[in-house]
Amino acid sequence: MILRSDSSVRPVDVWLAAVAGCALAGLGIARLTLSLNTHLSSSRADLFWLHLDFLLVYTAAGAVLGGFAAAGTTLLVRGVSAEGLRRRLAVGWVVSVFLAPLAYLLLLPDLGWAPTYLSNFLGAAPARRAGMLAVFVVLLLAAGQLGAAVLDLLRRRGASPRILFGALSLGIAVLVCWQVPGSPGPVSAETLLPEGPAVELSAPAEPPLPLVLLCVDGADLDDVVEPMVEAGELPHFARMMREGTWGPLATLNPTLSPVVWTTLATGKAPEEHGIHHFLHFRLPGVRQAIYEFPLHTGWNFELFPWLEKIPGMPVLRAPYTSDMRRVEALWQIVGRLYPVGSYRWLLSWPAEEVHGFSVAGGIGWAQLGLELDGELREESKRHSVYPPGLRLMPPKRRELTDAEIEAFAGEKLNPGDPRLKPLQSSLADPTSRELPLLIRQYDTRFTAASFYPVDAYHHLFHAYRGRGGLFSGAIAEAYRQTDARLGELLAALGDDTRVILVSDHGFDFENGHHTHGPAGLFFARGPGFEAGHRVEGLSVYDVAPMVLRLLGMPLPDDMPGSRSEGYRKALSRDFLAASEPLHVATYETARGGSHESVESPNSEEIKDVLKSLGYIQ
Ligand SMILES: [Zn+2]
Repeated sequence: MILRSDSSVRPVDVWLAAVAGCALAGLGIARLTLSLNTHLSSSRADLFWLHLDFLLVYTAAGAVLGGFAAAGTTLLVRGVSAEGLRRRLAVGWVVSVFLAPLAYLLLLPDLGWAPTYLSNFLGAAPARRAGMLAVFVVLLLAAGQLGAAVLDLLRRRGASPRILFGALSLGIAVLVCWQVPGSPGPVSAETLLPEGPAVELSAPAEPPLPLVLLCVDGADLDDVVEPMVEAGELPHFARMMREGTWGPLATLNPTLSPVVWTTLATGKAPEEHGIHHFLHFRLPGVRQAIYEFPLHTGWNFELFPWLEKIPGMPVLRAPYTSDMRRVEALWQIVGRLYPVGSYRWLLSWPAEEVHGFSVAGGIGWAQLGLELDGELREESKRHSVYPPGLRLMPPKRRELTDAEIEAFAGEKLNPGDPRLKPLQSSLADPTSRELPLLIRQYDTRFTAASFYPVDAYHHLFHAYRGRGGLFSGAIAEAYRQTDARLGELLAALGDDTRVILVSDHGFDFENGHHTHGPAGLFFARGPGFEAGHRVEGLSVYDVAPMVLRLLGMPLPDDMPGSRSEGYRKALSRDFLAASEPLHVATYETARGGSHESVESPNSEEIKDVLKSLGYIQ
């Protein structure tokens, strides 16, 4: 089909070589994807569709690229009059076109043969990049000519080029399936789960003091909170410093809020808790979620927005949901002994059944002013609270006053200005009034809550900060609002409640993002914490074991932070001396987590919000 001994190469031969090469590369990338998502192996149907989807997409890409390659043949042999040389050049070109996609497959970092080549290439300066590309093309053309010479030799000995070529393709396909690992891949949480009965726990006669864990998304210690406190602002943060323990909280890198929040609530690394991003992927026909595609294959955020625009294409990216978390969260662990609450914690939709109450958060990012209409609103609400029928305070929407607008924006703006939306939402947010009521109503000993996020303000207004004029004080004003609400909450909770306030990360004001782990913050007050103590070296892994220690519950050996005992740095000597920590191997049961997300009724709206903040494209 490809090579003919009696005349020059036809354009269709070149085109077919491109299609065959791309299809084989697609097969290889499907195998690599499987190695990164080993859970897909559990379903034959998913395996079949995964391979088929990749084959189809890469074959289609080959059909397009093949058109260009076929046109290139004419250019290559133009001006060469000697028939023999003409033919040799053209056959070499066919072989090069066939090999190019396979060379790309070999260079993919996830395959492990050339772990840094493509990243170096993409990160290089334009001149260097052009040089690297030229070397690659020359090598590819040389390989093509070499291949053509071998084919010529075999042809002269009487072998059929078509059969040779078919055998070569088949051989490569077998090699790809055998050599590119589909499974086993990384160890999954399921295999880590120990066998046997769940931990036996017995509650002491005296229940522990209530503990509230607040997370302020994005709150930054050294660039905002400390300088403002030094300047005499943020009286309630200042009070937490005087009366308690505070310091930076090292975070994960790359820094994605849902991933860090889940580590805070579980004490586990992302590979174990299973939450890797805001969104996971879906492919047509594949029922289970896909968490990762091989690096540099265009299957991540770049390509999907375009593919989703094709009419009839199902949703290819969907938000993570609470049932996709693979390990126990603090509200489930503590809930085995005491009533607990989970309140708008990021990524807690649908609301989980707990011993206490649960109000879903993260879906819809209620704090960012996302509003749903009609049926969507009803559907989203149905899964948003536990126990069902739990009554929540409605947000109090009202017109902003001129004074509020001026304090925030630095000048008079129309109350309808979209940039005022975050302010409007946080003023309407009932958390500081509602949370203490729920805690009292359910008599919870542990409550995890999202509290007045400031991250959205960082993303929207960092460029105006410190410049003077419009919005230059917006970020500081957001912290003042958070501080005021914190004061209301502390007053309502009283002195016998331990309060731990953390943030999942800070903000890199120089570069305008928080991608590479700017430290979050840690503030804690109540029995067990020393007054006026600044603590260094805490990390997001220390929070969950610290909570369990304060509640007098056994520390599980499968939380990295309970092995390292980093949490001890934050607790007072008296508290640590008063009791020895108990240990258990694990709290995990056969939860395992679902790889099938609950279809969110407002995936599209969530994506729009994430896009507007620059989290996704
Ligand atoms: Zn965050």
